[in-house]
Amino acid sequence: RLLNLTLTSRVGSPMCGIPYHASKLYIARLLRLGKKIAVCEQIGLPGGKGLTERRVTEIITPGTAVEEEYLEQGTHNFLAALTVTGKTPRTAALAYIDVSTGDFLATSWEAANMAEDFSRELGRANPRELLLPESLKNDGAIREVLDAWPGLSVSWHPDWLFSPEIGAKKMASLFRTANLRSFALTGESPEVCPAGFLLDYLSKNTNSSLPHVTGITVYHHRDYLLIDEASRRNLEIQTNIRDGSRAFTLLETLDHTKTPLGKRLLRNWLAFPLTDVDKINARQDAVRGFTNSNRRRDSVRDLLGGICDLERLAGRIAMERVHPKDLQALRHSLESWKEARKILADINPVSLGTDFKAGEEIITLIGEAILDDPSTSLTEGNIIRVGWSEKLDRLHRLKNNSSEILAAYIQEERQKTGIQTLKLRQNRMIGYYIEVSKGKIPRVPDHFALRRTLVNADCYSTRRLGEIESELNSAEEQIIDEERRLFVEVREKIKAHLHFLFAAAYEIAHTDVTTTLAHVAVLHSYTCPLVDQSGTFRITAGRHPVVERHLPPGEFVPNDMSFEGGKTLALITGPNMAGKSTYLRQNALITVMAQIGSFVPAAEAHLGVVDRIFCRVGASDNIARGESTFLVEMTETALILRSATPRSLVIMDEVGRGTSTEDGLSIAWAVCEHLLEALTCKTLFATHYHELTRLSHNNLHLLCLEVLEQDGTVVFLKKIHPGASANSYGIHVARLAGIPDSVITRARDLLARFQTLAGDPDPGTVPDAPQSAPVGLSIAKPGLPGLFNEEELVLDEILSFKPEAMTPLEALQKITRWHRDLSGL
Ligand code: ADP
Ligand code: MG
Repeated sequence: RLLNLTLTSRVGSPMCGIPYHASKLYIARLLRLGKKIAVCEQIGLPGGKGLTERRVTEIITPGTAVEEEYLEQGTHNFLAALTVTGKTPRTAALAYIDVSTGDFLATSWEAANMAEDFSRELGRANPRELLLPESLKNDGAIREVLDAWPGLSVSWHPDWLFSPEIGAKKMASLFRTANLRSFALTGESPEVCPAGFLLDYLSKNTNSSLPHVTGITVYHHRDYLLIDEASRRNLEIQTNIRDGSRAFTLLETLDHTKTPLGKRLLRNWLAFPLTDVDKINARQDAVRGFTNSNRRRDSVRDLLGGICDLERLAGRIAMERVHPKDLQALRHSLESWKEARKILADINPVSLGTDFKAGEEIITLIGEAILDDPSTSLTEGNIIRVGWSEKLDRLHRLKNNSSEILAAYIQEERQKTGIQTLKLRQNRMIGYYIEVSKGKIPRVPDHFALRRTLVNADCYSTRRLGEIESELNSAEEQIIDEERRLFVEVREKIKAHLHFLFAAAYEIAHTDVTTTLAHVAVLHSYTCPLVDQSGTFRITAGRHPVVERHLPPGEFVPNDMSFEGGKTLALITGPNMAGKSTYLRQNALITVMAQIGSFVPAAEAHLGVVDRIFCRVGASDNIARGESTFLVEMTETALILRSATPRSLVIMDEVGRGTSTEDGLSIAWAVCEHLLEALTCKTLFATHYHELTRLSHNNLHLLCLEVLEQDGTVVFLKKIHPGASANSYGIHVARLAGIPDSVITRARDLLARFQTLAGDPDPGTVPDAPQSAPVGLSIAKPGLPGLFNEEELVLDEILSFKPEAMTPLEALQKITRWHRDLSGL
């Protein structure tokens, strides 16, 4: 069903077929669906008695695949493992490896916020396959995270396989080190358990000793800008919210890379934005180096365009899965890189660490040994160039002489027998044979052995003919064997330079990403931000990098943002479609861009590094996970209130929308107060609760996005101003949108009434004392059905009498009646 194949059956067992030669296509599709594939092949030669022997020859899983056809270009193909060890506090460790490139990473954390930390790291790694110990099967937090990753192939394994002792030993022997100290690990490090098991699983599934996996990078999540999983999604950094693709994402805007290596590195930079100012500045310097000369940058980028996925190719060399055509691709790539290096040496000599001697050797070796357009298989010959091996050339000569030798022999027989019409023929069943027409049969000599009789002729073989034939066949076989042997020899010579190849791949990837960021900066007029340790946040004429790309040139309205004079919370109001969400995100995205070392879409920016970015968006549905929207909203808000620091940047877009107005407003209000007083993190808070602008606090900064009415249509100016927006704009917009006049009039009445009730005689201005409860809309009994209408009746009733004209008894009677009516409702 997954492959859209028609199911048939044989002896009651279901089965379906695909063409053998197309198997890779089908396997690739299954892998993309997160499935594992067991390949079972015939071992024995067919034709014997009974069933031919069959055996499982390979198990391909999403995380262990290495063939080019099975991998997505430009993204890592990680296999991950997770363990949780110790009693409270428990420690979780995650390790992940891309066997196609040799990248191997691990991290650990105290498992207090298991779901949050796990989903964040999973989001960074984005693995294809995850291995877990069986004991975690019933862990609620882990289940919750896994449910949110439907495409992930998950399998459970006995706990003892994740043993730290075996893990440490496996790693040390693979890395050829006495211990793991150079990787910041000891035998007790929690990372050792999942990392060791990954190696175990890989060696079983790939049949390779993994010589290209030469180390592991252990990181702590606090070493990088932290963006929790929900925020990462909300900011649409690598995937969009709508369909999870990369359309309309920051990645798409920045990704003008020329190589798969660069694509992967750019993704990696976006997954791990820096917090170290020196490292950020170093990246900026490299990018700046390429912004000055468009011509040189373009030449380098053109040359990069001719470079294949050198890293994965080196991985296949290491795992002995490379084919002859790959080697030509390697040669062309190294030649392009050699040219690019010449230009780079002029621009920025320090960026080139590796010396290129090994590269020259490899280029020469492949150029001399391998045909320009060789086979992709090792079993068909057509690999090695003439002149590379004397023995091979001799075999070729032998084979090429075939017609001459045969022709000479046949001529000889013609003369000896006097049968001038005697012919040499060949077919698949009996190989070469001599054909004699019926009339000449009496002249056939004794050493001709009859093989077959036809209508007009007989077919014969001779010993000499057989000899020549087997010489020819063996020459052919020997050529194939010899070519394979010579190819392996060449491959092993290149394998000795694995270290060089990976180092070159690293430089190419960095050059690609750096030139790409320079290219994008020039293309879209970005500027280099000043990034430092100060707490400054000042962006002049900032733009949203993605939204501006999808608007006609010049239509995006730039806006400033700064937290100055001790302000920490900017409260942004404005009607729907005013541009609030865009403004909020552009400031967060500019921060992310600055911290990966990129230039930013602004006229000027000065940013102190941020330790975490939170981006909470109200009312995002998560029905698939069976949680109410509001619960999700609150869970994510709770995370912010628990973990934001004064160095964090918090984006809150319409928080409190998922519940009733009174509830939502009260929560939004209290959250704002907490952010202002307890956390003092930099916060951008967009809200449609106009009432919130009555909050007064020294650190509060009121901003609004106004709209104008022009010739009867709404004009969204998209320009940010200090102050609060007039709150009647909702009705205004509703009128312009064509809501009937009667409804508009009624809405205005109601609004005025609510504002009177709330003690706000002058809508649109900002009163300064927010001490009391924010609004007094509701006196209705909570939970009344049809809340709004019932509430209105009650309000009308209260407003319709004059308390000063009543006796106490009348008042009591009224209350009693209300009580009776309300309980009857
Ligand atoms: P809100 O959150 O206030 O409802 P959005 O941020 O979703 O508004 O923006 C509404 C629309 O206006 C979006 O489609 C966006 O493309 C456009 N927009 C937003 N900000 C700008 C801007 N600064 N310049 C031009 N268009 C903008
Ligand atoms: Mg919005």
